[in-house]
Amino acid sequence: MREGLDEAERRDIQDPLSECIHEFFTGGLVHLNGNSLGPPRAGLLDELGRVVDGQWAPRQVQGWFADGWLDLPRTVGDAIGELLGARPGQTVVAGETTSTTLFNAVTAACRLREDRPVLLIEAGAFPTDLYVARSVARLLGRRLLVEPTAGFDEALRTRGSQIAAAIAAPVDFRTGELREIGPTTALCRAAGAVSVWDLSHAAGVLPTDVDDNRVDLAVGCGYKYLGGGPGAPAYLYAAERLHSAVDLPLSGWHGHAAPFEMSPDFVPAKGIDRARTGTPPLLGLVALHHALGPLTRAGIEALSRRSRSLSDFFLACVGERSPGLLARLVSPRDASRRGGHLALSVPDAAKVEHELAERGLLLDSRPPDLIRIAFAPLYVSHVQVWHAARELVHVLEGSR
Ligand SMILES: *Cc1c(COP(=O)(O)O)cnc(C)c1O
Repeated sequence: MREGLDEAERRDIQDPLSECIHEFFTGGLVHLNGNSLGPPRAGLLDELGRVVDGQWAPRQVQGWFADGWLDLPRTVGDAIGELLGARPGQTVVAGETTSTTLFNAVTAACRLREDRPVLLIEAGAFPTDLYVARSVARLLGRRLLVEPTAGFDEALRTRGSQIAAAIAAPVDFRTGELREIGPTTALCRAAGAVSVWDLSHAAGVLPTDVDDNRVDLAVGCGYKYLGGGPGAPAYLYAAERLHSAVDLPLSGWHGHAAPFEMSPDFVPAKGIDRARTGTPPLLGLVALHHALGPLTRAGIEALSRRSRSLSDFFLACVGERSPGLLARLVSPRDASRRGGHLALSVPDAAKVEHELAERGLLLDSRPPDLIRIAFAPLYVSHVQVWHAARELVHVLEGSR
């Protein structure tokens, strides 16, 4: 692969998505940590101003009905659903954190299989997923089975009939390594276990095809590649075939069939609305909706293609300058086996993160020795990646 600055420019010029970079406020920095928090999309303050000055101020509480505020959890959910490969009416943004949403989904999954004693999760899962799974297992009297990557599928094959629900992620949050959704979900189906996917590190950068893959339940963050901003609310997907059966533990009044009748008895709403909880954080939803615009316009296939082009180009540039550094890659070398980020194992990872930040490059470090570099498709260019590779090699070779 060619890897010079000319090649970077050529690639940027050839790709129409390169224009999107002007839609983001990057503060002159290179954001290689979009898997944690990306920059704001331009126009956010105008959009918030439109709601605050144009709706809230003049109409106050009437805005819930008059300005579509009550529909926003579904509206934003459907926009995310488009990126997930979900038909409308199956995704909702209730206004909770990912952790809370996962608790809701995992508990509901176990309730769908009252007679099965085991809850399965990957050992490398994101910490909150492990904590939530353990808590749900304790609460419902199930046994939590924590399995490394290979053992996970094996458990579904050999003792699947005991497993109530299996929690997995398509992208390892450390290494970026892919777990294909289709085959693992098929194993869950064959075993009769409910599949629960945490799509936090995939949504907005990788096709997940939740409908086609026959996923049961899925959750994910609004603030990573989706760009909803710090603390943006999470989403929940529930396949339509489960809607009448799914019994979510967080039964708030917004999930009631008739919330404004103020009934003392909970009757869940039809469809995905039953996954709503309480009054949604409206301004957070508005910001998330605003952020989704360029992503849904580009479409998930194009987003994924560009992210892979960026990460492959990065590795080519690093390899050209310092072939030995590629041995520090802890992610699959083949881009089709990675999500949107990759990781290198380096000495003093936190210090490397700091030094690169001083040079205007934002990435992050994770204990014990990883730096993670994310290739969000819309606000990272090949030219930036070329510079990032140069700076990274410089910092690493300088600090040896
Ligand atoms: C980032 C992330 C979370 C974060 O959960 P919050 O409640 O939003 O802080 C959870 N799960 C996974 C897999 C993540 O990548």
